[in-house]
Amino acid sequence: MKDFDYQRPAVDADAVRAGQASTARFIAGGTLLVDLLRLDVEQPELLVDLNALPWNKIEATNDGGVRIGALVKNSDLAEDPAIISGFPALSQALLSGASPQLRNMASVGGNLLQRTRCAYFRDVLVSACNKRKPGSGCAAIGGYSRMHAVLGVSEQCIAAHPSDMCVALLALDARVHTLGPRGERSILLEDFHTLPGARPEVESVLQPGELVTSISLPRAPFAAHSAYVKARDRASYAFALASAAAALELDGPSVRSARLALGGVGSKPWRCREVEQALLGKPATADTFRAAAALAMRAAKTTSDNAFKVELARRVVARALERAAGST
Ligand code: SF4
Repeated sequence: MKDFDYQRPAVDADAVRAGQASTARFIAGGTLLVDLLRLDVEQPELLVDLNALPWNKIEATNDGGVRIGALVKNSDLAEDPAIISGFPALSQALLSGASPQLRNMASVGGNLLQRTRCAYFRDVLVSACNKRKPGSGCAAIGGYSRMHAVLGVSEQCIAAHPSDMCVALLALDARVHTLGPRGERSILLEDFHTLPGARPEVESVLQPGELVTSISLPRAPFAAHSAYVKARDRASYAFALASAAAALELDGPSVRSARLALGGVGSKPWRCREVEQALLGKPATADTFRAAAALAMRAAKTTSDNAFKVELARRVVARALERAAGST
């Protein structure tokens, strides 16, 4: 690990100023960044510790929604009574991720900015990784790609986004609130993460020095009727092979509004707007949900290692929709 300087600002403007240097990195829980420092994947000259900033509250908003500070711990958010009752998919997603020890340390803002678990990205002895070293190639294409993405991939990178939390937030219409050198921004989560395209090293719309301060969830009729389903290699402490967050508002036997997002299969947390539209007015039945699941995976682009994810994801989607419908 390379030596670095350390700052712990108590004022947000100081954090923004310090974070603008290209060689600076923000740190909160450190559950991912410390790994990457040890692996020499990240070699910052300055770590800006955010833990003295007052962004660790979960608060009700005037519109009946909730605002979650970026420094709230994953475990606190998962166990919050208002989240469990009003946004159950979010609690379920958080509890399906990592381990209790990691959830006690990991921050909401850090979870939002998780980096891929692609083994080639994490191994500096592998020279071909466009995400770690732009222009170097992609060892996963033609290499081992069982965990990799099948939606939103490019010829430069097929890495999957690893977060469970983001998938649930996406299905609950979350917004990300930031503070940067140009002031505050509010960004729909769907627009926050970027596709790899020709620049896989760019993973979000955040600018240098821009910080996530909070995430907000609006009050919505489907939010309390939401569910998260995750398929993985082990019963706990494993990343998703495929996951889905579904939220439904029913009008009698029919779907009045729907939200669906996928994890483990996308190069970013994957919102399925076409599926949401297709569900409107349809009966909330197993046949409807199977058809929705097939539509969700229609654009999948697989390798020989990860083709199994298409059918797995279809089953996960159908299960998530059934659970959401069952909670209405
Ligand atoms: Fe790097 Fe992306 Fe290829 Fe993995 S899939 S080796 S992260 S470029």
